[in-house]
Parts: sequence; structure tokens; C-alpha cells
Amino acid sequence: MQERILRKLFLGFIQVHILYHAAQAPIYGAWLIDELASHGYALSPGTLYPILKQMLSMELLTQEMATVSGKRRKYYHITPTGKTALAEAKKRVQLMHEEINQDHDIF
Ligand SMILES: [Zn+2]
Repeated sequence: MQERILRKLFLGFIQVHILYHAAQAPIYGAWLIDELASHGYALSPGTLYPILKQMLSMELLTQEMATVSGKRRKYYHITPTGKTALAEAKKRVQLMHEEINQDHDIF
């Protein structure tokens, strides 16, 4: 799918993915690009990094530099606000899922 559509229409989904993974363990950009690609979100660094920056400014994530296995990278951590937003997103995803999948049989 076109990156512009991915970015605009599925921005919230992408952000929920990011929050979900940051809640499991600190994450970094290159790992996220691969992870999101495995779910069909083919994002370039030029698209992903502004999304991360926006999530930092919303205080959903924090970042720190860390060296792991000899590689120095920016790691993103979820904040308490991010955890609250993730819990709310899970409820809403569930409700949306129920709604948009309820009437399969009608069509
Ligand atoms: Zn994922």
C-alpha cells in the first residue's frame, strides 16, 4: 500500500503497535521498521522517525541512548501516559473489531 495512505489512515494503528512493543521492552527504530513491515506497514525511516518524535512530544514515549551488543542506538521506552493510552486503545480496538466484523453474514 502507498506510504501516504499507510501514514494517514493507519497512523493510529501504527502508534498502537509502537506503544504495544514499547510496553514489552525498549525498542529502537530499525527494529520497529522490520516489525511493522512484518505486519504490512512498510515505513521508511523518514516516515517512522517523525511519528516517534510526535509520540515523544505527546509524552507517550521517552528516549535514551544505549549501547547494546556494541551498537549505540536511541531506545524508546513507554511512559505512564503511554501505558494509559495503550490500555484505552486496547478497549477501543476490541470495540471497533466487534463492530466492523459483526455483520459478515449480511453481505
Ligand atoms: Zn507488532
